[in-house]
Amino acid sequence: MSKYIFITGGVVSSLGKGVVSASLGLLLRACGLQVTFLKFDPYLNRDAGTMNPYQHGEVFVTEDGAETDLDLGHYERFADVTLGRRSNVTTGQIYGAVLERERQGAYEGATVQVIPHVVDAIKDAILDASGDDVDVTLVELGGTIGDIEGMPFIEAIRQFMLEKGKGEALLLHLVLLPGLLTGGSELKTKPAQHSAQKLRECGLHMDFLLCRTEGPVTKEARDKLALHTNVRAERVIGVPDVKLIYNVPFKLHEQGLDRMICTELGLPYSEPDLSAWQAFSDAMGAEQEVRIVAVGKYSGNADAYKSLGEALLHAAAARGARLVLDWIEAETLESGDAEAVLRGYDGLVVPGGFGLRGAMGKIRAIQWAREGKVPYLGLCYGLQCAVIEFARNVCGAQDAISAEWATDDEDVDLDRCWVTLLDNQGKATPLGGTLRLGSQPCRLEPGSLARDAYGADLIDERHRHRYEVNPDKVRVLENCGLRISGRHPENRLVEVIELSESGQWFVATQAHPEFKSRPLRPHPLFLSFIDAAMEQK
Ligand code: GLN
Repeated sequence: MSKYIFITGGVVSSLGKGVVSASLGLLLRACGLQVTFLKFDPYLNRDAGTMNPYQHGEVFVTEDGAETDLDLGHYERFADVTLGRRSNVTTGQIYGAVLERERQGAYEGATVQVIPHVVDAIKDAILDASGDDVDVTLVELGGTIGDIEGMPFIEAIRQFMLEKGKGEALLLHLVLLPGLLTGGSELKTKPAQHSAQKLRECGLHMDFLLCRTEGPVTKEARDKLALHTNVRAERVIGVPDVKLIYNVPFKLHEQGLDRMICTELGLPYSEPDLSAWQAFSDAMGAEQEVRIVAVGKYSGNADAYKSLGEALLHAAAARGARLVLDWIEAETLESGDAEAVLRGYDGLVVPGGFGLRGAMGKIRAIQWAREGKVPYLGLCYGLQCAVIEFARNVCGAQDAISAEWATDDEDVDLDRCWVTLLDNQGKATPLGGTLRLGSQPCRLEPGSLARDAYGADLIDERHRHRYEVNPDKVRVLENCGLRISGRHPENRLVEVIELSESGQWFVATQAHPEFKSRPLRPHPLFLSFIDAAMEQK
């Protein structure tokens, strides 16, 4: 039977609840416990798939093909677990399920209401997410206490904790402790006090108060918070700003949070061995640098490509290099001297993306890498853009496009579409949840860069795309020197392309390998790319 830890937030959003939850997961795993996670997102979208990454950050894809909140990426990376669709539940899903049941007549004539029906569905989702063989389920509630849309979730947490009883579940509340008004010397506790009051109004009592601060929590602030929020002073835990999110677990551990939680939940505690994690964190300070440029569409928000940045960081750290990663907005390369902007980088990445905006800038960057023999890693759209670049500039098909770039009313000659929809897909397909999603197998060609990187013939990676390399164009691409080094073993779709004859490292994949990279198990393709970039120096 699982124990439960609920994590809520107060005062302001974006305090790092996801990283705190993930850090706690890592610490509990390091104590030998099995953990899993659930993120509640109180918005109405069914999932994050249709949300703009510029506003919402990356859409993280799970093995089973769910399009989820980026916090699931933190959970997977820190705690080294593999999560699925049951680990991210939105208001849209809850209401969707309740309304579906109502139509089926499952409520037998009852008036369907937030309490009990919606709240019951939320409680069921908590039980569903925990599964068998789990010691601890960490449940994070998105947003801040007091949000109207979060209220059914708060009520569900209250009922769930009451039903479970003491020692079975506890609540961590993360707040901001600002010091800005007094130049940082005195921490202001009032917003935290109000947040605690709000929780109490909802019938919840926090077991631990976590305080996001610039520096340490002073004794004065700790005592005051303990007094006003009904939490013992040692249970007021500081979450200070850190240069690297991977250092947060150390901060929590130093203050005994993991030990106190285990005691409270009656779980066996053993001092976690964090030495490998420490070594990884230390590697970030390496002297040698590797300079990577990423050309994307949402480059103004680094969270839009969260897993990519992390995967590069993991691989660089494993090679004892300090990652310098610059993001360039693809559109800015469409005019002017793109070469001057890109010069001096050791490697180029074009990440996943959608739509025409910025696509020509990506293609220019890829041409620069291909012609200059600069290591190139293409991810999903980065493969599709590489195919168009190659079709135009090597195969001589100047008018090559992806079918994605044609407007609805445009009559496009299908022969121009080197990247296309397959027969069974139509433009009329609804947007949400209809992409090719989740883990897909791929067979790699012997002797290819990809096969060497992975060290395996058969691999699987997570996917999230609608378009494919046009199977009718594959022969021409190959004849012109593009190697199709990975294909789906059954349907033969193009999964990996490369330019291995040219003596450069140029590999693009239709998948999103960045989702599977872990700090202590960097992804082989990223390692191989970083190796090539370091040789480039
Ligand atoms: N827009 C492309 C497609 O839908 C690529 C998607 C992606 O990069 N994730 O196929």
